[in-house]
Amino acid sequence: MKNSCSRREFINRLGLSSVAAGFCANSLFADQFSPTKDEIESGKAMTNDRNKSAVLKGGRIMQPERELIQKCDVDVLVVGGGPAGVAAAIAARKLGVNVALLERYGCFGGLFTAGLVLLLQGTFSKVKGETVQVARGVNEELIKRLTALGSNCITDWKNGKDPDADPESSKYVLSEMVRESGAKVFLHSWGVDAVMDGDKVKGAVFESKSGRQAILAKIVVDASGDGDIYAAAGAEYTKYSRYIGLVYRVGGLSPDKKVNSPIKGVRWGGSGNEMGDGLNVEDLTRLEMDLRKRIWDSFEKTKKAPGNENAFLLDVASQLGVRITRLLKGVTHMAYDTAVKPDSYKDIIGIASKSPSAKNQVYIPYGALVPKTVDNVIAAGRCISMDLNSAETCRLIPACFTTGMAAGTAAALAVKDNCTPRDVNVGKLQGILKENGAYLG
Ligand SMILES: Cc1cc2nc3c(=O)[nH]c(=O)nc-3n(C[C@H](O)[C@H](O)[C@H](O)COP(=O)(O)OP(=O)(O)OC[C@H]3O[C@@H](n4cnc5c(N)ncnc54)[C@H](O)[C@@H]3O)c2cc1C
Repeated sequence: MKNSCSRREFINRLGLSSVAAGFCANSLFADQFSPTKDEIESGKAMTNDRNKSAVLKGGRIMQPERELIQKCDVDVLVVGGGPAGVAAAIAARKLGVNVALLERYGCFGGLFTAGLVLLLQGTFSKVKGETVQVARGVNEELIKRLTALGSNCITDWKNGKDPDADPESSKYVLSEMVRESGAKVFLHSWGVDAVMDGDKVKGAVFESKSGRQAILAKIVVDASGDGDIYAAAGAEYTKYSRYIGLVYRVGGLSPDKKVNSPIKGVRWGGSGNEMGDGLNVEDLTRLEMDLRKRIWDSFEKTKKAPGNENAFLLDVASQLGVRITRLLKGVTHMAYDTAVKPDSYKDIIGIASKSPSAKNQVYIPYGALVPKTVDNVIAAGRCISMDLNSAETCRLIPACFTTGMAAGTAAALAVKDNCTPRDVNVGKLQGILKENGAYLG
């Protein structure tokens, strides 16, 4: 067989082999194609405007003032497409407002999918002796869709057991849920700054291969996990260093009934955790390389164990396992001992749990999502206003879906009622959340 072929030949061959085998798995994928006429004609001679570059002035690197391209103007901008961001975008769209969703990587799910953290821990809890599904709404929709896709996508959960999900099926399902919501999506787009008007957030600046651009918004939901946008806007927060891990999966193992995995013979594990600052690029670089080495060393040992001769390293997470970096100083700062009491807050927007047998639940108040000082930004996910003990429960994936859903709903409500997030009618918010399937106790 000759090694190069025209695009049409390639497509034809791919189509034929796809029908025959369901996928294509030979030298046809070798990237050796002659350029087509269209490809040749797409070439344009260009020179970029050098006046936009940073300049050296007296040994200091200065960025000249420049106007940014306004990409769009929306009601609600969600920064971060992890569990919290996806839930926020879908929830806001449910109220009919315009939504844009910005994600720095090429997929949705954040640490859950790209981080390979696959256990939807705290979907269930023990409430007054009964097993109750506390994470509902968007979390439940995801679980149901994965179940409908069939085996290998999610483990059994109907018996009140927190399910383990497959990362690729989950990325696909989340992507379709976002697409169906009608939110305008920007992938490969990194939110780097807030657009401010006094102490009011008016949007966010982002970087992508298209350069530095901005999106204007009435309300911004910061679901970056690290509070990148509320920090840029000047909101108060506490910064922590915590143990950082890297998750991986090994395949080709002898199936073990005790292991809860959607794919037989595949198991996931975390490399040894190490302290690090998730906002420090040197720490992130060192940990990414050290933990990858540690994973390989550990895999070598796994392979040598009897019965594991066919084991292979299936994948290593593309998103480093950063647990906590910034925690907001919100209108209400959740202290664990207070937050586990059902009557502490009047503005509960969701309940978080650690496991189906957990006797303590954390009752999350809306005030933990709203910054004390800056206006028009709402936090969601693992960077809301809480102490570290509360975070051990509220940073889990189902809880982040829950706070995301609340943040998106509140943002849309603020737009519709023409008020700031701190003035949102909490009774109305709780009513809409319940209508959309949330569990508030
Ligand atoms: C090692 C480890 C193990 C864990 N194990 C479990 C477990 O077993 N079960 C469980 O339920 N939870 C577990 N967790 C916790 C859980 O995975 C996370 O806390 C949860 O996913 C947080 O959701 P989030 O949406 O707030 O943030 P993330 O999941 O971090 O999502 C944030 C998203 O925003 C994007 N983003 C970040 N900054 C920007 C920016 N500036 N601009 C644009 N996009 C941005 C990211 O790419 C990402 O997609 C674990 C966490 C770690 C680190």
